[in-house]
Amino acid sequence: MKEILQDLTPQQLEALVTEYGEQKFRAKQIFQGLMQGKKLSELPVSAALRTKLLERFEDEPVRIQEVFISQDGTKKYLFALADGNLIEGVLMQYKYGATQCVSTQVGCRMGCKFCASTLNGLIRNLTAGEILSEILIVNRSEGGTLKERAVHNVVLMGSGEPFDNYENVVKFLRLLTLEGGIHISARNISLSTCGLVPKMLAFAKEGIPLNLTVSLHASTDEERARTMPVANAYQIADILKACDVYFRETGRRYIFEYSLIGGENSDEKHARALAALLKGRPCHVNLIRLNEVKERSLKTVTEKDAYRFLGMLEREGISATLRRSMGNDIGGACGQLRASYLEQNGSGETQ
Ligand code: SAH
Repeated sequence: MKEILQDLTPQQLEALVTEYGEQKFRAKQIFQGLMQGKKLSELPVSAALRTKLLERFEDEPVRIQEVFISQDGTKKYLFALADGNLIEGVLMQYKYGATQCVSTQVGCRMGCKFCASTLNGLIRNLTAGEILSEILIVNRSEGGTLKERAVHNVVLMGSGEPFDNYENVVKFLRLLTLEGGIHISARNISLSTCGLVPKMLAFAKEGIPLNLTVSLHASTDEERARTMPVANAYQIADILKACDVYFRETGRRYIFEYSLIGGENSDEKHARALAALLKGRPCHVNLIRLNEVKERSLKTVTEKDAYRFLGMLEREGISATLRRSMGNDIGGACGQLRASYLEQNGSGETQ
């Protein structure tokens, strides 16, 4: 695979064009073109410069392979990377704007028992420019521009563990929030982690005040370890401490994801334990009914049971919402689309 031009910061682009004997203002033109979702071959530069760029960099690092449209308006994208690997993303329409969910890795090695992304392990990390390109090309294909964006919010909740690809993800976030680029502000970005404590602590110092979301799914380490192997490495108590550090550094309250699994974490006693654990903390709980993955045996809960769980948390004074599950008819859960595509079409992946 060639290099990825979208990985470069405006300063690095300046250095590049200077190396090619061009004037500095070219760098700005290139950056603007890239942020509009253009391919390298579409950039407004001289033929000579275009040729040089295309020798070294991918013309189109991420390409839309297929789009699936749900009855609720959710669009699910299957993207092809330059090396033939596949990743997926989702665009959801809410009253307050469109939210895009992006992948940060091809596959995942965290091994959560309910998740389809991890079925074949980790294939590779995405670069900053590849993650960014997921957004740039969706914004473009939805008719958005840099002034009038078609993507308003970004959530790092697709395939992959963002903090298992820390450097590239932080670089991606800096490019995403940059003025003059697609410029999505940190408060419109949510990053979800399974709780890699050292990386959470490092991230608190990066000066990126986004919505930090932690996948909790249980309120004791023993119960959590039944579905999340990462619980054997990091304890809930340390995750909570890291969340508090993030709150102190950024002033942003944090969010816990709690997927309700039938017979596992969704009874009254679990609601009480969760409320006791989180009481008094500057946090919010997002409940979601497990999206059943056919390769996994775990079962979801009824809507009624989910509302009962929500009610119990609220009565204990915990701020919580039950998230609507969107795009169920098109395989909305992480990794489901890629998994089913690979099954039908054979694994076209390379390491
Ligand atoms: N690796 C990150 C982000 C990935 S997924 C993390 O672990 O947070 C985003 C959220 O969806 C996580 O909370 C994850 O636990 C949850 N999730 C994954 N598969 C799911 C499924 N089948 N049903 C419901 N939630 C699921």
